[in-house]
Amino acid sequence: MQRITMKFGGTSVASAVAIQQVMEILRRHFETGSQVIAVVSALAGVTDLLTGAARAAAEGRRSVWQEAALQLRDRHAEVLQALVRDGAQREVAQGEVDALVAEFEGLCGALEVVAELTPRVHDQILALGERLSSRVIATALRAAGVQAQQFDATQLIVTDDDHQNANVEFNRTQVCIDRVLLPALERGELPIVTGFIGRTPEGATTTLGRGGSDYSAALIAAASHCNELIIWTDVDGVMTTDPRIDPRARVLSQVSYQEVGELAFYGAKVLHPRTVQPVQERNIPLRVRNTFNPEHEGTLIASQSAASATVIKAVTSVSHVGLLTVSGSGMMGVPGIAGRAFLATARVGANILMISQASSEQSFCFVVLDDRAHAVQHALQSEFTGEIEHRLIEHVELLEDVVILTVVGSGMRGTPGIAGRVFTTMGAQEINVVAIAQGASECSISFVVEEDNHERAVIALHELALEPVLAK
Ligand code: ADP
Ligand code: ASP
Ligand code: MG
Repeated sequence: MQRITMKFGGTSVASAVAIQQVMEILRRHFETGSQVIAVVSALAGVTDLLTGAARAAAEGRRSVWQEAALQLRDRHAEVLQALVRDGAQREVAQGEVDALVAEFEGLCGALEVVAELTPRVHDQILALGERLSSRVIATALRAAGVQAQQFDATQLIVTDDDHQNANVEFNRTQVCIDRVLLPALERGELPIVTGFIGRTPEGATTTLGRGGSDYSAALIAAASHCNELIIWTDVDGVMTTDPRIDPRARVLSQVSYQEVGELAFYGAKVLHPRTVQPVQERNIPLRVRNTFNPEHEGTLIASQSAASATVIKAVTSVSHVGLLTVSGSGMMGVPGIAGRAFLATARVGANILMISQASSEQSFCFVVLDDRAHAVQHALQSEFTGEIEHRLIEHVELLEDVVILTVVGSGMRGTPGIAGRVFTTMGAQEINVVAIAQGASECSISFVVEEDNHERAVIALHELALEPVLAK
């Protein structure tokens, strides 16, 4: 029997009308005999609303979180009103919504008193979005005669306590999924599971990072041995670039796990960067499809990729990053400098997105998100105080307002001249390239340019993903 996990993102569950589409899709698969697990995001905008309200509460801005409470209640009540005819059923669900909104108000009230937003309480508040949406959607499905059952992923996904960006403990998660989720499938139910959230072994609620419902779905698909994972979203599939930057973007019919992994890591918002690993490990095909255009086949992501006449398949970008450069002629041949720099970076909680070293060993540079960039610069300066004093290291510089551009395509491995095409394109646009790195997989090239050139650079590079490489 087919077993499929389907994930529906925020836009797909934004309103009663959108949820009706979701219900149609679920019903179609469920009623043809497949076992289906649905993983759902919060209604579009709700996670932003919650995070804004939590911050406001800690700052004593009561009207902001009270207004948010009203919006939460209204938006979920509206969906119930539209999709659940039966008064008794609707009342039960409305009671659940009210209880969660009351929990929200209680947490915000407490934040006002302590005047500090701890990561732990922040996660408790963020989790309410998915806890609300999943209940409302499960009720709507039951009202339509589908045997749906709501589950909080706090029962299923076990994580560490790195709040807001928790790391999953796979073995414990597997045990929970075997114990809680698989019996539901055996009973013939359609589980509706909250995306985005998990819990620590001690019972604290955690979240998996913004956009993390994709990852939740991948974990669940892998642990429950699904034949397929479908990420239902608001575009027809993985595209050649972000369609908001270049509307000429086209849907890619097939890409490999490795290619999509690079795309997601380097900024393609369509998938959370951690999504690929669990499904790749179990070789589960992943599809990205459009909730609002379900006839379209979407993008198939599997171990093999389709060859592309353009070689470069897609272009992505990550903005809000800073480039740190450590340089000095005395560094040559001194072992351990890079290692110490990366450890110092890790100690201030910054993730390194890209690394590049000049062959002379006189400098190396790396990119981190700009909210940590100053902290990293200070950490490096104190780590290398001795070397700076003795002039072994001359500079620890931070270049702000830059962006990483990445071109992806597995065919680059065997095709000479691709890097040439990329940098000639930048040259023709008179865009200065500040640092370059090629992924070890040779299926991507990343480089840094100034933020001012961001969109222009993406559009120019995107031409390369639209035009076939000329036959030599
Ligand atoms: P969801 O709420 O369904 O998780 P997201 O907003 O997180 O959806 O991701 C889908 C959006 O990602 C699209 O609407 C699109 O604007 C954006 N996007 C950025 N890069 C790409 C890309 N390469 N392919 C497809 N979509 C992309
Ligand atoms: N609701 C969460 C967010 O907006 C998770 C998700 O949608 O994937 O980040
Ligand atoms: Mg998303």
